[in-house]
Amino acid sequence: MTDHEASRNDYLPRGELRQLQGERLRRTVRRAYENVELYRRRMEEHGLHPDDIRTLDDINRLPFTVKRDLQDKYPFGMFATGLADVVRLHATSGTTGKPIVVAYTRADLDVWTNVIQRALLCYGLQRGDVIQIAYGYGLLAGGLGFHYGAEALGATVIPVSAGNTERQLMVMKDFGVTAICSTPSYFLHLAERAGEINLNLHSLPLRVGAFGAEPWTEAMRQRIERDTPLKAYDVYGPTEIIGSGVAAECRCQNGLHIFEDHFYPEIVDPQTLQPLPDGQEGELVITTLTREAMPVIRFRTRDITSLVSEPCGCGRSVRRMRRVSRRTDDMFVVRGVSIYPSQVEAALLAVEGSLPPYQIVLTRPRELDEMEVQVEVTPELLTDRIRALEDLQARLAAQLEHLLGVRAGVRLVEPRTIERSQGKARRVIDRREIV
Ligand code: ZN
Repeated sequence: MTDHEASRNDYLPRGELRQLQGERLRRTVRRAYENVELYRRRMEEHGLHPDDIRTLDDINRLPFTVKRDLQDKYPFGMFATGLADVVRLHATSGTTGKPIVVAYTRADLDVWTNVIQRALLCYGLQRGDVIQIAYGYGLLAGGLGFHYGAEALGATVIPVSAGNTERQLMVMKDFGVTAICSTPSYFLHLAERAGEINLNLHSLPLRVGAFGAEPWTEAMRQRIERDTPLKAYDVYGPTEIIGSGVAAECRCQNGLHIFEDHFYPEIVDPQTLQPLPDGQEGELVITTLTREAMPVIRFRTRDITSLVSEPCGCGRSVRRMRRVSRRTDDMFVVRGVSIYPSQVEAALLAVEGSLPPYQIVLTRPRELDEMEVQVEVTPELLTDRIRALEDLQARLAAQLEHLLGVRAGVRLVEPRTIERSQGKARRVIDRREIV
């Protein structure tokens, strides 16, 4: 399929898109009702029949689906097809309970390939680009999605998979890599290592990074774009929905275009679950519009964002979502105050001017929560006078208290003492005993 054909639906007139979405929603709801016990039961409990869903506006009559629902139906209870029609299975890591098994028919894989191809087109990639895929190839739906999308684009694909930093850098240097797909924290780790071995990334043809699979911030983008030759683009996609490729930033870097012909987005208030209008921040809810093996209706992603309906400079007509920098389940509570890691990042950035490696450690020594932010200092600062370190520590503590509204301890630690992740960065270590 040519680039033009593959991305056609990104440019549909809004009315035409809404009509397509409505038709596909009706088909999805019927499919789910007829084939998945949980959806049929939920709809019956709400007194709903597939015939009641006539237009896109009826979507808010449908009940929500949460992660727990999918976990409870482990392994195959949410499938809408027999296993014979399933050509691929992936699963979530199951770090927060049972894994969720995700099934794909041949057509589902074609959709996945299509949306990744469209994401790569958003970044300005094309045939002739050399794409290094440093997401894991395995049960987690990471590398393979990008792999087929990049091949469909006609790019040269290097399936390095995750880990093995030295080999990643060798490939990047020797194979003429122009784009890399990885988590942003892992790329920062690669860049740091490149510096240590005197590999100048600016001397390479590298120009695009497709970063996702973990929340990241504008501060991280600025750091990547300042220290490396990359334009850093965001990609988004929960495994439960299809994997990476639900939405991607275009060259305007001003929100991620949602591939709305396949994934219908809503924003709801996470407390009341009432729908919120475009522009207002809340929890992202997604309904798949074309998934065969595992249709997902009104899935609560736990990701906090807002939708942007204003036209984009790139000419695509599909709506955008703001970058996801926090999740409802990343939030932690210290002495009754809700805090997101992104707020801690904002405080560090305000003082340091760039984001150092950091970690938040929560303890409860005497029945009261204690929060300590451990921040790596640069080797230069470490050789400086002790006074400079004390000064930095005090300024960080003051800024944290100012932005968070609670007192946090600050501990400066030596360079490279905070564990570097091969995948998602672990920001919060909660050692509190709940009694
Ligand atoms: Zn755009």
